Amino acid sequence: MSGPVSDDGPILDLTRRARALQEEYGARLMADEGIRALVGAYGAAIEQTAAAMQTERIGAACSACARQNPSGCCFAGLESGFNEIMLLLNLLLGCPLPEVRAQGDTCFFVGERGCRLRARYYFCLHYFCPGLEASLGDARMGALQQQVGRELRAGWEAEVAIRRWLGSHSSTTTEERVPS
Ligand code: SF4
Repeated sequence: MSGPVSDDGPILDLTRRARALQEEYGARLMADEGIRALVGAYGAAIEQTAAAMQTERIGAACSACARQNPSGCCFAGLESGFNEIMLLLNLLLGCPLPEVRAQGDTCFFVGERGCRLRARYYFCLHYFCPGLEASLGDARMGALQQQVGRELRAGWEAEVAIRRWLGSHSSTTTEERVPS
């Protein structure tokens, strides 16, 4: 593992804020029946996407490519697409947040066995390289993209509900607690 690189301040700050939200509100969020159902549905959608990717052997193809192209699709800086609610969702789904960047030239969240997150944003899921698209063909790509769409929608619904919950339950102002 390598230590922080010079531009890790923003992502370390974001992960710290997500952990603070989890510590202060995590148990109460998951005690809310509506939030718990949305987080559960999101976790199920993530598993369904993972199963679809495995069926299509996407992980094997990406790993083989990453060995030739270490920074590959998950290059440094992509971590800036996250917000703290998405990172909080990882914690609510039981996925701890990394404390250090494993490799300087890749996304902060890349680990030895690929991505270290469960809840991921649009780019992580929606991007398929031209080689993969060509090898899968239109029908299989379409089915995968539909599943990715279901996961993204489930994540968005959970995120919106959590923002609303925090806005109405936090002890300080919405602006301080609920980032844009
Ligand atoms: S899939 Fe994971 S490692 Fe790749 S860019 Fe997204 S968060 Fe980073």
